[in-house]
Amino acid sequence: MHTGWTVLVKGDTIVAAGAITFKLPAITRIIAMKGTTLMPGMIEGHSHLFLHPYNEVEWNDQVMTESRAERTARAVSHAAATLQAGFTTVRDLGTEGAMYDDAGLKTAIKKGAVPGPRMIVATRAIVAKGTYGPNLHNADIDLPQGAAEVGNINEMSAEVRTQINKGADLIKLYADYRWGIDGKAMPTFSTEEIAMATGIAKSSGRQTVAHASTLEGMRRAIMGGVSTIEHGDEGDEAIFKLMKDKGVALCPTLAAGEATAQYRGWKKGAGPEPARISEKKKSFQSALKSGVTICMGGDVGVFTHGDNAREMELMVEYGMKPIDVLRSATSVNATAFGYGDKIGSIRKEMLADIILVQGNPEDNISAVRKVVFVMKDGKVYKGG
Ligand SMILES: [Zn+2]
Repeated sequence: MHTGWTVLVKGDTIVAAGAITFKLPAITRIIAMKGTTLMPGMIEGHSHLFLHPYNEVEWNDQVMTESRAERTARAVSHAAATLQAGFTTVRDLGTEGAMYDDAGLKTAIKKGAVPGPRMIVATRAIVAKGTYGPNLHNADIDLPQGAAEVGNINEMSAEVRTQINKGADLIKLYADYRWGIDGKAMPTFSTEEIAMATGIAKSSGRQTVAHASTLEGMRRAIMGGVSTIEHGDEGDEAIFKLMKDKGVALCPTLAAGEATAQYRGWKKGAGPEPARISEKKKSFQSALKSGVTICMGGDVGVFTHGDNAREMELMVEYGMKPIDVLRSATSVNATAFGYGDKIGSIRKEMLADIILVQGNPEDNISAVRKVVFVMKDGKVYKGG
């Protein structure tokens, strides 16, 4: 944190930042807001702009009963709410049945047709055949699925190539899932299958990210070469150390777990804490201890778009220092996702993604909710 800084923006780029020793061009428009903290635009690490909270409509019903047009219309409004909340970039990890519409929304935002964050998109995501949903556990019914199914290593490589062709900025695969009639999370792909996907993605300059909650699913994803692990619920200190050694970051999605528990009836602060929440806290604290890189990503969409800061508050509540949470939501996410040379910090030659929040989020993380100014690519979307 610094005091007395000035940031000079020209076009979509930061041309100078720091104590004001530089001369301002004569036509400079000056924006100054007292009592605020200037930050890089925040980066949501795990969003689903094509989903809305499950207490409004269950995931199954969103995928099966809402038309693509309805889902896109909702996504447009979710994108606007996200930007207004100070998140100038989102890593959107799967349309959940809305095919490649994230690539289209990304383009519309880029062209200025609708306001929204810069999008890093996964398109459909990849699951092992028969492991995903919707699943009504009726063997007579084959339902359309919330992700692309592959049944073997050849289909895996073909699907990775198709998704890249259709606009994927990264490949997301599910290394485990609640597979089969008992609903228990189990590994779904072999390490070789995962390595095939990450190898092809890497050839194209793209990362692969893995949904994984089991230890074995995490282990295969790490050894298979993914860049980040999403959720990691059963993670212990040993597996987080392995992630650290292999340069794999963790995106813990604490807010999704809390939201889901509350939809199932948990009243936070009153009544006993569900076992899943207590276990997640323990796991997150092991991650902190291990030194693994921790991203900020809440799985927003499970809960309300624009309420992204919920994850940051929970990271603090579960034991992380506010300044480290702020780093996760900016420079750490940018670097982990491969965009560290463009976004996530305020310095010369970076894209001008800048926000102002009321108060000091290093003292109270909830200050990141009080966004009074948003600039993305040098364009003002709020305040000023
Ligand atoms: Zn997700």
